[in-house]
Amino acid sequence: MISDVLIDRAIIEKVSIFTKLSLTVETGGFLYGRVNPSWVYITDYSKPGPNAVQTSEGVTFDRQYIIAYTDMKRKSKEYVIGTWHTHPPDTSCYPSNRDIKTMKSFLSLSKGLPQVFLITMLKKDEICISFYCLDYMGLPKVIPNIKFV
Ligand SMILES: [Zn+2]
Repeated sequence: MISDVLIDRAIIEKVSIFTKLSLTVETGGFLYGRVNPSWVYITDYSKPGPNAVQTSEGVTFDRQYIIAYTDMKRKSKEYVIGTWHTHPPDTSCYPSNRDIKTMKSFLSLSKGLPQVFLITMLKKDEICISFYCLDYMGLPKVIPNIKFV
């Protein structure tokens, strides 16, 4: 199980800006990087894409955009290692039932590569940042160690 996330500081800064700008609808995208059994290193993220469907309840990514971006990343040996998305301000950073379903489908498509799920939210003007993975029971667990590099 993943215990450590390494992430470029610039990615967290970008995602924080998107979180502050997306107050009425959710936004998000894929996360890219490298994995090892106990840690992931996040080197890039995608946006949802120009044809994404964004509501206050969730975001459905623009499939074509994501596929093209993922292909481009694969050339630099960066692989899909999860997703990020925002929650409406002052709600909860905990994964919804829909999020847990998404996490499970990502894991089943990832051919054994661990996946992480970043949820961000604006809470009283502060950005709440939580990383989750699924445990062997299929329940979300907070990843405790986040290192900014
Ligand atoms: Zn969610």
